[in-house]
Amino acid sequence: MEDVHHTSVVVWNRSSPHKNSDIQQLEKQQRTTFEHFQGLPERAANVGVHILLGAEPIESLLDKNQHSLFLNICRLKGSTEHEILSRQLAMSTPGGKSFSTTIQDVLRKYSLPSARTLLNDPPSKLKWKSMADKAVSNYWHKEWTSQLSENPSLKYLQIQRRPTKELHNIWQSVRPREHEVKRAEIKVRLATGTYVQQTNAAKINKAEVTRTCQLCNKADENLQHFILDCRELQESRTKGLQMLKNILERIHPEG
Ligand SMILES: [Zn+2]
Repeated sequence: MEDVHHTSVVVWNRSSPHKNSDIQQLEKQQRTTFEHFQGLPERAANVGVHILLGAEPIESLLDKNQHSLFLNICRLKGSTEHEILSRQLAMSTPGGKSFSTTIQDVLRKYSLPSARTLLNDPPSKLKWKSMADKAVSNYWHKEWTSQLSENPSLKYLQIQRRPTKELHNIWQSVRPREHEVKRAEIKVRLATGTYVQQTNAAKINKAEVTRTCQLCNKADENLQHFILDCRELQESRTKGLQMLKNILERIHPEG
């Protein structure tokens, strides 16, 4: 109760609880940490870095804090906070800076019930948690799917069903062994378009670097050659294909 009171006063007394520059700073910090975790270079697209780790953006965490503060007040029927909020909601105008206006925007953003509906009939903590989790997950699924479709370098990256809750399969399938982690690092670079192939390196460094595949010396090293054609990688490819075939046969025994 003391906490709710204190936080609500803080939120009400400031036009915006967080400055944009603070959020940007936090996001930058988060992004750098996520890149280091995965051995990704700085140029990796933000959306890819998040999808691979199944990590929720700072923006989302801050929105969720606003949601839960609001829900806490909704549940305090008869309190001063509840009364003030109810009055503010009745008088708020779009574009205003008060908590009652921002909370309406933040609820709408995730297609959650309106602030008035929640204030009149607040759901139980458990019900709210599942409702909000689903809404946040759906929001980021949609948002990231659209960002992926706009970014050709990420065309091989697939989004998880619950994007802010699940690690991407590339990381999920790794056991804590050095060679598996190294292999996964190559995969995430391929999936984010940040793996430097000889053809790209040659473009950047002009004459100093050859376009030719360093493994077989037979063709230009591009993504197709690396994954499908290079003869030196045939053994690993056959093993991988056999594993894939076994899995598919297990799932669909009829073929
Ligand atoms: Zn080759």
